[in-house]
Amino acid sequence: MELNRRQMDILEIVKENGPITGEQIAVRLNLVRATIRPDLAILTMAGYLDARPRVGYFYSGKKPVQSVTDNMNAMKVGDFQSIPVVVAEHLSVYDAICHMFLEDVGSLFVVDQSSYLTGVLSRKDLLRTTLGNNEIDKIPVHVIMTRMPNITHCTKQDTLIEAAQKMMDKQIDSLPVVNDKGEGLEVVGRITKTNITAAFLSLADDHEL
Ligand code: ADP
Repeated sequence: MELNRRQMDILEIVKENGPITGEQIAVRLNLVRATIRPDLAILTMAGYLDARPRVGYFYSGKKPVQSVTDNMNAMKVGDFQSIPVVVAEHLSVYDAICHMFLEDVGSLFVVDQSSYLTGVLSRKDLLRTTLGNNEIDKIPVHVIMTRMPNITHCTKQDTLIEAAQKMMDKQIDSLPVVNDKGEGLEVVGRITKTNITAAFLSLADDHEL
């Protein structure tokens, strides 16, 4: 919830002078009590202020109550993304599997010589190739990857909700976060189901990331 100028002024007055009556707050603002009544109601309902009959308003010190929707819409990909793990197109499937274990990730992004995104490798892509195939040190990943232009991606500025929606729609576990450079997509991050879970947890009062 965004506070207006007058609500912020009231909050400051109560912080410094509370407990203070509505009448006294109005005097300090050169206004009448009736004018600031809605503001006081909003500040009290939102949890910024506590009101005690015959004592007045005082600063609650509590975190303001924000709607879950407000919180969720404020979450941006850039605030929750992880570091991407990228590999070259000619890396072997065998080496890609080693990378996945070493880097402890569930998907790898494949880039060309200019470092632009060309593909995605998931755990199952690698498992599928490995089944019944003992030459995985000879197969380059570009042969088995899901390739551009079929890669679903997002940007740092997108909301986490938009990213989560894409992952659900396409039934995939991760999205590369990209910068569109015109001639190609530069990979700057990675959004996974784990990031979405962390964001979900951060909405609960007692959890700070
Ligand atoms: P897994 O295959 O391990 O279950 P995913 O569900 O992420 O993991 O991947 C399913 C398929 O979708 C794989 O073939 C993978 O290459 C592809 N894929 C994964 N991420 C993306 C993406 N961001 N854009 C397009 N395709 C993707």
